[in-house]
Amino acid sequence: MAKLLSSIPIKVASISKELRDYAALNLPRNHDVPLLDSLQRPLRDLRISVTDRCNLRCTYCMPRDVFDEQHNFLPRSELLSFEEIARLVKLFIPLGVQKIRLTGGEPLLRRGIERLVEMLARLNTNAGKPLEVALTTNGVLLAQKAQSLKDAGLSRISVSLDSLNNTTFRRMSDSDVPVGTVLDGIAAAQRAGLHPVKVNMVVQRVVNEHEILAMAEHFRHSGIVLRFIEYMDVGSSNGWRLDEVVSARVILERIAARYALRQIGANYPGEVAERWQYADGGGEIGVIASVTQVFCHDCTRARLATDGKLYTCLFATHGIDLREPLRLGAADTILTNLIAGRWGLRDDRYSELRATQQTPDKKIEMSYIGG
Ligand code: SF4
Repeated sequence: MAKLLSSIPIKVASISKELRDYAALNLPRNHDVPLLDSLQRPLRDLRISVTDRCNLRCTYCMPRDVFDEQHNFLPRSELLSFEEIARLVKLFIPLGVQKIRLTGGEPLLRRGIERLVEMLARLNTNAGKPLEVALTTNGVLLAQKAQSLKDAGLSRISVSLDSLNNTTFRRMSDSDVPVGTVLDGIAAAQRAGLHPVKVNMVVQRVVNEHEILAMAEHFRHSGIVLRFIEYMDVGSSNGWRLDEVVSARVILERIAARYALRQIGANYPGEVAERWQYADGGGEIGVIASVTQVFCHDCTRARLATDGKLYTCLFATHGIDLREPLRLGAADTILTNLIAGRWGLRDDRYSELRATQQTPDKKIEMSYIGG
């Protein structure tokens, strides 16, 4: 351990005991053997939040009464730079990461995001394939950015859209942005050749559940994959209640009552969405049922927050700080051991335990680590 830590030139003492313990784990890395967590799940997907800021205030994610004018967003100096992000991604790849999803807050607010996409799209996976770079956006800035993102090497994009009705959309996003702006962004993404383009609708009882069929009909035969997401108790600010959840089964029943559906297989192990196709060739939809059909057993996702903290679950309460050792000059071995050590000890399965465990006091906010 002393040898490992000696590569950190100064202020070793400032590295927390927790981090030193992870670094000291010094797991012998046989790169032919996938890195598994304590529940035998590999590390395959890395979600990277590039900003904690957003130009909307969706009530289930960033309620304005919490994220108001007084809210302390992270100062620029505390954000990982693109170079720091790219360096960390290069360390995650040998540990098994094959896909990157850029999130936020709203990632298109981060100036020069295309440069980061370019830096990541140049990288290859362990298997020598191009690293898949995806992005999740609220679509407000997408019409202007779609082509430059595509040119930078972005592979796929997901756009959050909870309603086609301006009144409902503005209520849920707590903004005065017209739905048309997001629809224009989606059309621009298709024109730019981003594929697949997915649209994510968070369904809340009473709020927008009456629009499930309208959304389904709007995107049938469009080539866009529409996914319905069960309303989740993310973070500690959205006042979530179980009785406001519309289950995936109910969502599918409502659509199947009008259009025959058949289930299709996952694209890859650990895919969060359950996939369905219209029997009449109208395209594909999906449901993400984190509340009623939990999928922790094959969750392969790690999350890198805007300020460099590593989290191993969307509903985590704490993470480990990679930015401090990185900025203190830690060698790649130290950083790799921190990541591998943390993943190796991972036992997260929040959704599986949701109904039986005490809800943690302070879960991290989704707007800080991305969905
Ligand atoms: S609750 Fe946590 S462990 Fe379970 S699927 Fe979601 S992110 Fe993964």
